[in-house]
Amino acid sequence: MVGDTGFSNKHTTLFHFIGLVPSAGYALYHLLEGNIWLGVCLTAICLAILLSTYKVMQELDNTYYRYGILASVCLTVIVATYFLGIRGIIFAFPAITGIFFTFTSFRFSMVVTTSMLILCLLAALNSLHWQMILRFSVPLMMTMLLSAAYSYLISKHQIALETQASVDHLTGIMNRRRFNDWLQRLVHRTLREKQIAAVYFIDLDDFKRVNDTYGHETGDLLLKHVSKSLLSCIRVGDALSLLNEEGVARLAGDEFALVTTNLKSKNNADVIANRLIAALNRDFDIDGLTIRVNASIGIAFIDEDTRTADEVLHNADAAMFRAKQEGKNRYQFFNSSIANDIGLRKNVSLGIKSALENNEFTLVFMPIFHPDGVVVAGAETLIRCHSDELKGIGPDQYIPIAEEYGLIKDIDYYVIDHTFEKIRELLNHNPDCNLRFAINISAIELQNLEFPDKLKELMKKHNVPPQMVELELTETSLVSHDEQSIDMLTILKQMNFRLSLDDFGTGYTAFSQLQLYPVDTLKIDRSFVDSIGDETNSKSSMVDVILTIAKLYDLELVAEGVENQYQFEYLQQAKCDYMQGYYLSKPIPWQEFIDTYHLVS
Ligand code: C2E
Ligand code: CA
Ligand code: CA
Repeated sequence: MVGDTGFSNKHTTLFHFIGLVPSAGYALYHLLEGNIWLGVCLTAICLAILLSTYKVMQELDNTYYRYGILASVCLTVIVATYFLGIRGIIFAFPAITGIFFTFTSFRFSMVVTTSMLILCLLAALNSLHWQMILRFSVPLMMTMLLSAAYSYLISKHQIALETQASVDHLTGIMNRRRFNDWLQRLVHRTLREKQIAAVYFIDLDDFKRVNDTYGHETGDLLLKHVSKSLLSCIRVGDALSLLNEEGVARLAGDEFALVTTNLKSKNNADVIANRLIAALNRDFDIDGLTIRVNASIGIAFIDEDTRTADEVLHNADAAMFRAKQEGKNRYQFFNSSIANDIGLRKNVSLGIKSALENNEFTLVFMPIFHPDGVVVAGAETLIRCHSDELKGIGPDQYIPIAEEYGLIKDIDYYVIDHTFEKIRELLNHNPDCNLRFAINISAIELQNLEFPDKLKELMKKHNVPPQMVELELTETSLVSHDEQSIDMLTILKQMNFRLSLDDFGTGYTAFSQLQLYPVDTLKIDRSFVDSIGDETNSKSSMVDVILTIAKLYDLELVAEGVENQYQFEYLQQAKCDYMQGYYLSKPIPWQEFIDTYHLVS
C-alpha cells in the first residue's frame, strides 16, 4: 500500500514505529509469561516491521516485508490457538483489520472492525472479568485506530496526488488530462439541459520567436501571464453568462483552451472572443521587458453534432488553424467550410491507409549534385502515390494529414525500408559507392522513442552503413529548448547517421542555437533560392546570410529548388557545397537514376 500510493516516508516510518509498540509489548509479555513460541512469533512480527521500516526509509519497495508481517501474524494465530485454545483467535484480529483496511473501503473497514470489537466484547462477557475485557478490547482498539488513521492519511495523500496530476505545473490551471474529463462531463450536461456553451482554442502566434529571442524562462513567465489574463476574462461574472461555471486549461506548450457555459445566445461568444483578443493582444511586462504577443482563436459550440469532448476540441482546433491561415491575431468560428475541410482530410487519411495496405506508394529520387552540376553526390528520396484516392494530391498535402491521423510512422518506416533496400542493391553492385541518400523524416519521430530501434532493425535487415544516410528534419520541427528532440537527434548522431535541417530559413531558429543541434547539413529553402537576383525581394539577401552561417558553424549547405542557370551560377560562385533542383534534374525513378549517372558499371 505504501509503495502503491507514494505515501510520505515520514508518515510511514512513524506508523511502522507505532505499530511496533504493541507488538513488542506483547512479545515481551508472552516471553516473560513462559509462552515462548508465542513470544518468538511476536518477535518475528517486530523484526518484519523493523525491516519494512528500514526499506521505507531507504525509499525501497517494502512489498515483501508487508507480506512478511501478514505471514508472521498468521503464524502467530496458529501458535496462539495451539497454546491458548480458541482464545488465541484474538491474534487474528490485527491481521483481519489490516487486510480490510488495505483492500477495502474506509467505511466498510470501520463497520467490520467495530462489529468485530462488539463480538469480542460479547464473547468476553461470559468470563466478565475486567482483565479479560481489557485484553480483548485494547489491542483491537489500537489496531483499529491506527489502521483508520493510516488509511485516512493515505486517501488524503491520494487526493493530493490526483490534484497534482491534473494541474499544469507552470501556470496552475487545469492540464489537458483533467480538461478532457471535465469537458466530457460538461458536454453531456450541456446537451441534456439544452444550454449554449462554447469552447475556445487559443494558440499564441509565433511564441517560438519569444523563446528564441528572450530565452526559455521569459517564455515561461509569459505563459503564466497569459494564463492569468485568460482567467481574468472568464471571472468577470457579467451578464453574458447566466451562471459562471467555466474553465481555462493549458493543453500544451502555447496552446490554451477556455470554455464558457450557459451563454444567453451564440452571439455572446463573439463578445467573449473579442475580450480574449483584447486581453492577449497587448504589451506584457516581464522582468522589465516589454513583450507583445498575439493569439489565434478557434471557437466551437457544444451542440448535437459534437457529442464528445474530443470532437468539440477538434473542431475548435480546426477553426484555430483556419484563423492562423487567414493571417493570425484573430478569431474564427467553426463553420461548414471548416467541417468540409475536416471531411476532406479524413478522406485523404483513408486514402493513405488503403495506399499503405495495398502497397501503392513508390519512391522517386532527386539527384543532389556537386557544384559542377555534373557529378552526383547523392539523392533525396521523395514519396509518390498513384492510387485513385490520392490522385492529384502531393506529399506536401498528404504528409501533414498522415501526421494528424497517426499514419506518418508507417510512411516513414516504409520510405526508410525501401530506400535502404535500394542502397543495399547499389552496394552489391558497386561496393565502393560513397553516395549519400537523404530521407525526409517527420517531426513526430523526434518524440517517438521506438524510432532508433526501428532504424537499427532496418539497418541490420539491409546491412546499410549509416554514413550513407542523411535524415532530413524540417527546421520548424525543432521547438527550441525541446530537450527530448535534441536528445533524439543526439541518439541518431551517435548511431552515425548524418542529420540535415530542411527548409532552413523558414523557421525562427536563432542562429546561435545551431550549436545545440547536432546537425551536419543545412538545406536552404527553395523560396530563398527562388529570390536570387531579385533585388526587390527581401529574401534575396538571406541566401548570402545562410551561406555565411553555414561556414561559421562549419555545416554543409545544400541549395534546393535551383531552377535556372542564373541561380545555379550564383550558388556555384558562392561556393555552396551541393545543389538540387529542376534545372539539374527532376525527381526520377531508381533505375533511371542508376542508368543516367552510370552508378553501376
Ligand atoms: P521537401 O523535403 O522540401 O522536398 C522538396 C520538394 O521540392 C519536393 O516536392 C521536390 O520535388 C520539390 N522540388 C525540388 N526541387 C525543385 C525545383 O527546382 N522546383 C520546384 N518547383 N520544386 C522542386 P515533393 O516531392 O512534392 O515533396 C514535398 C514535401 O513533402 C517535401 O518537401 C517533404 O516535406 C514531404 N515529403 C516528400 N517525400 C517525403 C517522404 O518520403 N517522407 C516524409 N516524411 N516527407 C516527405
Ligand atoms: Ca527534404
Ligand atoms: Ca526542403
